[in-house]
Amino acid sequence: MKILIVEDEPSLRELMQRTLAGERHVVETAGTYAQAEEKLGTYSYDCVLLDIMLPDGSGLDLLKELKAHGRRENVIILSAKDSIEDKILGLEQGADDYLPKPFHLMELSARIRSVARRSRGGGQRGIVVGNVHLDPESFRVEVDGREVPLLKKEFDILAYFLQRPGHLVDKSVLAEAVWGDHADQADNFHFVYAQMKNLRHKLSEAGADIEIKAVYGFGYKLIENPRP
Ligand code: CA
Repeated sequence: MKILIVEDEPSLRELMQRTLAGERHVVETAGTYAQAEEKLGTYSYDCVLLDIMLPDGSGLDLLKELKAHGRRENVIILSAKDSIEDKILGLEQGADDYLPKPFHLMELSARIRSVARRSRGGGQRGIVVGNVHLDPESFRVEVDGREVPLLKKEFDILAYFLQRPGHLVDKSVLAEAVWGDHADQADNFHFVYAQMKNLRHKLSEAGADIEIKAVYGFGYKLIENPRP
C-alpha cells in the first residue's frame, strides 16, 4: 500500500515510517499542513494517517478538503487530544478510523489492514486477473494456484498493474507509485526497466496469461492473453 503520514512530531513520524516501510508499504511523510496539502494535491495514496494538531492548521480541515474533492483515500485520524469531540468530528467528516495517541505500532498496522479490507468490501482477499492471483496481505502471488516468488518491488509493480488492467501507465507515474518520494523526478528510469524485465520474465516462465507490455515512449500496460 502507499501511505502518507501527516504528523508534526519528528520522532513519532520517523518511527511510524520505519515500521510501515518494514511491512513493505511505500511510505511518504508530511510534517505540516502545507506539506500534506501539497503531497495530496500531487499524488494519491491508499491510506492517510492524519494528525489533528499541526503547527499550521488542523488535520480535520485537511480531511474536509479530501472529502470535498471526492478522494478515495482511507483516512485514519491520530490524535493526542484525548477528546471525544475530535473522534466524533473526524468520523462524521468521513474518516475511516480513529487511533488515540499514544498507540502501539502493532495496533496501527492492524488498523491500516482493517480499513483496507473494509474498503475492498471483504469477500475474496486480493486481486485476480486471468490466472494470476495476488494477495496483498500475505504478499503471495500465484499463477494457476502455484506460487511465484517475487522480490518486493516486483510484487509492488505487479499489484499496481493488476489494479489497472488495460490502462497505459507512464513510467514516471509508476516510479512514483512504487518507489515513492521524488522517484518520478529521476533523471532516468533504469531502476524501473530492470525490475520490470525480471517481473515479465517470471510471469512468462510461470505461464501467466497476463502480460505487462511496453508501449514505446510512454510506459507500460497490462493486457490479458487468454491461452487457447
Ligand atoms: Ca501534532
